[in-house]
Amino acid sequence: MSVLVYVENTGGKFKKSTFEVVSYAAAVSKQLNTELIAISIGEVNPSDLSKLGNYGAKKVLNVSSDQLKSFVNQAYASIIAEATNKEDASVVILSNSFTGKGLSPRIAVKLSAGLADGAVELPKTDNNIFTIKRSAFSGKAFATIELTSAIKVIALNPNSFQINESNESAIVENFVPALKESDFRTMVSEIVRASDKIALPDAELVVSAGRGMKGPENWAMIEELAKLLGAATACSKPISDAGWRPHEEHVGQTGIAVSPNLYIAIGISGAIQHLAGVSSSKTIVVINKDSEAPFFKVADYGIVGDAFDVVPKLIEAVKAYKAHS
Ligand code: FAD
Repeated sequence: MSVLVYVENTGGKFKKSTFEVVSYAAAVSKQLNTELIAISIGEVNPSDLSKLGNYGAKKVLNVSSDQLKSFVNQAYASIIAEATNKEDASVVILSNSFTGKGLSPRIAVKLSAGLADGAVELPKTDNNIFTIKRSAFSGKAFATIELTSAIKVIALNPNSFQINESNESAIVENFVPALKESDFRTMVSEIVRASDKIALPDAELVVSAGRGMKGPENWAMIEELAKLLGAATACSKPISDAGWRPHEEHVGQTGIAVSPNLYIAIGISGAIQHLAGVSSSKTIVVINKDSEAPFFKVADYGIVGDAFDVVPKLIEAVKAYKAHS
């Protein structure tokens, strides 16, 4: 028996969410008193693979082939399912990232497994039954679900689990899966990156703004604050609908769901559809001139004030802090 964790890479590099998910999977394998095996698909430097031992993986299965250089949903799901059977894994864990959201249900179907996607905590394990807390209704609520199947698939929400590091290294083993032609019916022909800015779904810090900014010409201060903090920029739906900002910045029920450590909402009212995509952020700071704005109800910190006064002051404060640290 073992626990298998899929370690996602972007352009051959692991992201923070990968180390989170390996740390989480290591904790699950400890609960079950079994070994943690990782599986990597694509071109990753072997030394980066062995470093996954730092986060608790004992062995890494390395799948590398020209056909798999870019993400192919069906093929990746088949490979992970095959590795699960080969390693006699009873739990498969992956990040609930954009890629993970596509993969996890496919893997679950292939393995006749129960799926807990959007998991936010470690499972409680009792007699082969897992009880897991997961986010539900686009982050508006939590659900506690039970997985009773023999094999269980868990997709962990990014920023939900602390990275645990040690000083171990993992054995790297090449794994050659039995690829089927039918797994390559849908292929990515080209990837065009929207920008070289921090990708919103992975961001630890997000500076977001809404209609209170009055117009696109006022976004320079939002971008400046984000750049100073090393944050991604986001916006409410009407802003991207109006073409003030690109659509990939739209967060909420119909946009991207984020769960950063810090979400700063500037001139956003906090409509339920917006909150649906941001309410699982660890710390929410709201800047709004209306003290009755609904966003304040979910804020950890609130500033009642005009964004055009507050944001420049915040920028100066961050600059001053950085100059002294
Ligand atoms: P407003 O509601 O106009 O709020 C602007 C805020 O700025 C106000 O609170 C105001 O007090 C404040 N303000 C004004 N001037 C200043 C100033 N100078 N300084 C500081 N504060 C100021 N919305 C989303 O964001 N994401 C979604 O995914 C989404 N999906 C939707 C799906 C459906 C089916 C529907 C019906 C709606 C959806 N919406 C979504 C729209 C949502 O209901 C709200 O209309 C939208 O979030 C409001 O955007 P806003 O807060 O930027 O603007």
